[in-house]
Amino acid sequence: MSDAVTTEAAASCHGSSKTALREAATKAGSEAMERYAADYPVGPHDQPQSMCPAFGSLRVGLRMRRTATILSGSACCVYGLTFTSHFYGAKRTVGYVPFDSESLVTGKLFEDLRDAVHQIAKPADYDAVVVINLCVPTASGVPLRLLPKSIDGVRIIGIDVPGFGVPTHAEAKDVLAGAMLAYARQEAELGPVMAPRTGRSQVPTVTLLGEMFPVDPISIGRMLEPMGLAAGPVVPTREWRELYAALDSAVVAAIHPFYTASIREMQSAGRTIVGSAPVGRDGTEAWLEAIGQAYAVPRAKIDAAKNAILPAITGALAGMPIKGRITVSGYEGSELLVARLLVESGADVPYVGTACPKTPWSEPDRAWLEARGVRIQYRASLEQDLEAMRELAPDLAIGTTPVVQAAKERGLPSLYFTNLISARPLMGPAGAGSLAQVVMTAMANKGRMHEMKAFFEGVGTGASAGIWQDLPKDRDPELRQQQLVQLKKRAKSEEAIGC
Ligand code: SF4
Repeated sequence: MSDAVTTEAAASCHGSSKTALREAATKAGSEAMERYAADYPVGPHDQPQSMCPAFGSLRVGLRMRRTATILSGSACCVYGLTFTSHFYGAKRTVGYVPFDSESLVTGKLFEDLRDAVHQIAKPADYDAVVVINLCVPTASGVPLRLLPKSIDGVRIIGIDVPGFGVPTHAEAKDVLAGAMLAYARQEAELGPVMAPRTGRSQVPTVTLLGEMFPVDPISIGRMLEPMGLAAGPVVPTREWRELYAALDSAVVAAIHPFYTASIREMQSAGRTIVGSAPVGRDGTEAWLEAIGQAYAVPRAKIDAAKNAILPAITGALAGMPIKGRITVSGYEGSELLVARLLVESGADVPYVGTACPKTPWSEPDRAWLEARGVRIQYRASLEQDLEAMRELAPDLAIGTTPVVQAAKERGLPSLYFTNLISARPLMGPAGAGSLAQVVMTAMANKGRMHEMKAFFEGVGTGASAGIWQDLPKDRDPELRQQQLVQLKKRAKSEEAIGC
């Protein structure tokens, strides 16, 4: 283990340069850094401003049956991560192995982690134990690869998920899903493995990559039926044994396009990957065609599948038209799909910002949207999302929390992407109807937003917001200006990490 990076230097999101931390992690033996750099390419921004990336991996582990998760990192990071996971309804305890400078640099932390894993890995309770190295242990090279691969049949999965290596929490989901698929693939290659709880499918299946609203896989299954196919498991899976079934599908649909490590495992198993998703009429038509061709389904059956669903989608889109200008930004990875559905519903969508990178699996969506004049910003920063909102003056801003907050300040209707858009169906006729309903309701609030803005007019903004006897004053604008210049200079030379 390396002591190249001390706790003090690395313990905060802004404590040291990302490049230095990456180098330290690589020197300390973390093999993950190079792989992450290739899997999750940065640029034009290296770190979109979203939550701690490790949340993605944590959430995937916490949602799986018979899976324990242990975090290894600074207490403040672990506090934030456990808080967020329980805010989002986790019903499972998060394990934590604390450390201090001494246990970190002497290697005692690794021994403590190994002890914790031995204590918890009971086959009666768990199929798998996930150990996640956060920023400091990754930069210090705590070698999770040296943990036992399994204990009494319980798989041990150790992953590094630092803010300086994994750009978004969406991609961190892929880090764990990919590690689990790699493990399960090796198991399947060595001999018979367990069937899914519901038994093996009698017809060929399509594995679905990406977390989606529970009704979406059911809708997709119905769309596939006329071709003699069925929806397979959704990855990240909810149980270990589903991983084998996911690997079993000859065709994998990259519904969310950022699952690079998972796709690598699928391709290593000889699977065909299909990009985009069945959203809207055009999206569904193209997707069914691509799936049918990937499975060499006869033309008549592909056409039958299309004929069975497309009129209903056209009807749903026409029945719930969306009128108005909408900007879309988010960090879930489904932003382009949502934009497609909005455009097909009649909305004017001039801008889509996604914190995720450009990948081959969203190319059909990029081409479709750009052909309709939509500007797409990959790895979008908050500043770009806000600038788009200001410049384009939409009737509705769909975005992350700070975008929604800025929209409210301007008296613009807004919807939080994660809680209000991701939490509803997108596929098939259900998707068209459901999205239009929430969007139109929000846009109808324009008058109320203006009334609210007028009501609060004159109560000040920023530091002077509120009712004051002595209004807080910007004491020294010059000093403030100097500080801003210094901060900008520092930011250039010293890149901040993580949150
Ligand atoms: S990104 Fe920030 S919160 Fe997350 S582990 Fe790193 S330092 Fe902690």
